[in-house]
Amino acid sequence: MVRALYPGTFDPIHHGHIDIAQRASRLFDEVVLAVYDAPPKKLLFSTEERLELARTTLAHLPNLSVTTYTGLTVVCARQQQATVVVRGLRNVADFESEHRMGWANHQLAPDVELCCLFCNGDYAYLSATILKEVAGLGGNVSPWVPDTVQQALRAKLTHRG
Ligand code: ADP
Repeated sequence: MVRALYPGTFDPIHHGHIDIAQRASRLFDEVVLAVYDAPPKKLLFSTEERLELARTTLAHLPNLSVTTYTGLTVVCARQQQATVVVRGLRNVADFESEHRMGWANHQLAPDVELCCLFCNGDYAYLSATILKEVAGLGGNVSPWVPDTVQQALRAKLTHRG
């Protein structure tokens, strides 16, 4: 039985993330999507909101569960008894940062493998940053996120003014 951890900020989850989660759920027996509690970047959604959006969006995957974590990804992997960390790769910039993080994680926990999946070409330029920017300016983000996330973005951005 191989359990994989799919960690990230997911602020909010979008189709690029969903594609990776779906493919990971076919590759591994179990997948735990882990929402990072406190990344060093400004967030739009709270940890609870990001968790709930991920949970709702991925409810159709019976072997995938959603949790939150704080601290080191490899510590979370061990706590979850996951032997693989899954990440998505969009471009060379992602490759370089994943390579760096993968090296550090391997030093800390050589027993935890890294599995990078190339992203679906349709979402090659999709990032949570561009999604929030376009949504904030009133643009149509329906090709990039499911309805629930679109509604959550609308509610959050309207509320913020
Ligand atoms: P992080 O801050 O950890 O990079 P993100 O929520 O931005 O968190 O991304 C989580 C994971 O999803 C990362 O592995 C990232 O490379 C991947 N990812 C982000 N955007 C896409 C996309 N458009 N297609 C596929 N994977 C993506």
